[in-house]
Amino acid sequence: MRIIDISLPIEPSPPDYERKLSVHHQAFPPILQKVEIYPIWVPKWDQPLPNGRRVSKLHTPLHAGTHVEAPAHMLEQGKMIHEYPLDRFVSPATVINMTYKADHSTISASELDKEGVDENDSIIIRTDFTKRIGTKGVAGTTQKHWIDSPKLTKDAIDWMAEKKVRILTTDFLPWPLPGELFVHLMSKDILYIENVGNLDQITKKKVTLVALPLKIFDVEATLTRAIVIEH
Ligand SMILES: [Zn+2]
Repeated sequence: MRIIDISLPIEPSPPDYERKLSVHHQAFPPILQKVEIYPIWVPKWDQPLPNGRRVSKLHTPLHAGTHVEAPAHMLEQGKMIHEYPLDRFVSPATVINMTYKADHSTISASELDKEGVDENDSIIIRTDFTKRIGTKGVAGTTQKHWIDSPKLTKDAIDWMAEKKVRILTTDFLPWPLPGELFVHLMSKDILYIENVGNLDQITKKKVTLVALPLKIFDVEATLTRAIVIEH
């Protein structure tokens, strides 16, 4: 068994992060990626317990770094993360290598249909797009992401619905703005994992995808530590 960590590291946002992003694309609120980690109890190691311990606080949007999204993200009556059983997040998955896809290309149902996806699989589509344009796997942070990224077609989403895909994950931004296609995906009850990396380290086509959400109630998304297991 081999484990590949496809999660992005969580690091505090640099001080000028917000300003840079807002210059690039107003439609993507930069606050979505702003993570703050700070100590709430600074240890005094030369003193006895309890002073000799470190306690930190994490202040983060639930859409920072690698996270899993449920229909409530895009639909008023959509299901929340906590409404899904855990087996939704531990699933057989098919890895689809589309690194040959150029900027502005599309990915259609007929192309996905050649990939041997079984019913109830999750799917992981690799293009290396975010890696290529150098944003460490974070989608949507520049205008180039929104415009140049390969896109899924509507029939690709319909095909996923027929296949009962449990989770879709991609290393590119698969829907054009303003996002009707994303609404369509969520209306088909397909979950989405955003911002993944290391897909080039996966060597097998059939793997297990594990991406457990935090046990938080009444939210549309949570951070996740997503891994791929090769058996
Ligand atoms: Zn998100």
